[in-house]
Amino acid sequence: MIETLHVYADANATLPTSPQHVVEVAAKLGAGAGNPSSPHEMGRKAQVLMTEARHAVAKAFQADVSEIIFVSGATEANNLGTVGVLRHFGEPLKNLHVVTSSIEHPSIRDPLEFLQRTEGLQVTWLAVDKNGFFSAKDVVSHIRPNTVLVTLMAANNELGTCEPVKEFCDWLQKVRWAKTFLDESVLSGVLEKSVTQHTLQKLHMHCDGVQTFGKLKPETWLSLGMDSVSTSAHKLGGFSGVGALLLRKGRKYQPVVLGGAQERSRRAGTENLLGIVSLGLLVEKVNQGVNWAAYEHVNRLRERLHQGLAGFGHVRINTPMVGCLPNTVHFSVLEGSPQKGDDLLMQLDMQGICASSGSACSSGTNKPSHVVLAIGGSAFEAKNSVRLSLGPTASEKDVDAILNALQKAFASK
Ligand code: PLP
Repeated sequence: MIETLHVYADANATLPTSPQHVVEVAAKLGAGAGNPSSPHEMGRKAQVLMTEARHAVAKAFQADVSEIIFVSGATEANNLGTVGVLRHFGEPLKNLHVVTSSIEHPSIRDPLEFLQRTEGLQVTWLAVDKNGFFSAKDVVSHIRPNTVLVTLMAANNELGTCEPVKEFCDWLQKVRWAKTFLDESVLSGVLEKSVTQHTLQKLHMHCDGVQTFGKLKPETWLSLGMDSVSTSAHKLGGFSGVGALLLRKGRKYQPVVLGGAQERSRRAGTENLLGIVSLGLLVEKVNQGVNWAAYEHVNRLRERLHQGLAGFGHVRINTPMVGCLPNTVHFSVLEGSPQKGDDLLMQLDMQGICASSGSACSSGTNKPSHVVLAIGGSAFEAKNSVRLSLGPTASEKDVDAILNALQKAFASK
């Protein structure tokens, strides 16, 4: 039970649902609701609940309600924003080109790798520097006349780095609809000469917004140049198995789940009403600005954690001090350290600290982190990493407990 935990530092994997949130969801549901597609009072009640949630999500995305599609989570949203979009072009994938980064979440990376391997899809995997950043200039310079998709994460789930996706998207939005194509900016200067304005209008820009949504104010990372953006409820403290995709008007994908006409025929299957209510309630709080003050405080705690970790001899901190999420510090254990990554996580767990090695999706596979490798870490470092990601209610006491537990763990061998 979460109440008995000493410190929770795995918020980038899941922010646990509070008992209070469960009560709020139950209160919204009242005596229950029917199938939102049913033509009776209980069905209409479900529709109303979904509409309320849709309005909240649309507001958070500064979008129209018709642009919000409820899905089973960000993995599905990211698959739709990549595979679904690519399939919609209706051309052999070997003719199409995608630009993405080398540090994307597996829900972007794996489908693209699969299509590259099985159907010859052309993919450019952008490199990142040693701090984990790619550059907007690099994104632009890799666009080709046959580029139909650019997919980039707003913030990396392992390192917590905030990537310059808004910078790229603001530029894209400006030049693709400008009367005179291309301005005097540095970004326009690096675009290949053979790329036309039509290429930029046609290409779809998808953003994995999972780690920034609710942690950073929208104006710092959202852009009208993003044609689709994904988010997930369980990263906000909501139920898992539900998320949303923002898909701008005029943009289309080929649905993957076929069946009923739910979600305007863009995602078949009876909607996850409980999950959607949960997402809506949490997003309403985001819209009210409840999160920003909390994360300002968390940011100071992150700095304290970062400084504390810098005093440890056996680790390399992979998260830069600036330009990252307010809650994340990621480090690798150096070769020769008395503790390996998994031992360290176990020792932390025994001392009541919940942390993980990086992406929750890869834990247990003993695969080296592609993100640590991308920033130049060794295979050992990529297999021996710890991510500390604080939730919005974290305290100074939590940070001190984490540092003490790490100190003890390193001293124990
Ligand atoms: N994208 C990022 C950056 C994530 O951190 C995650 C979750 O770990 C996902 C996508 C997948 O989200 P979900 O668990 O809702 O499928």
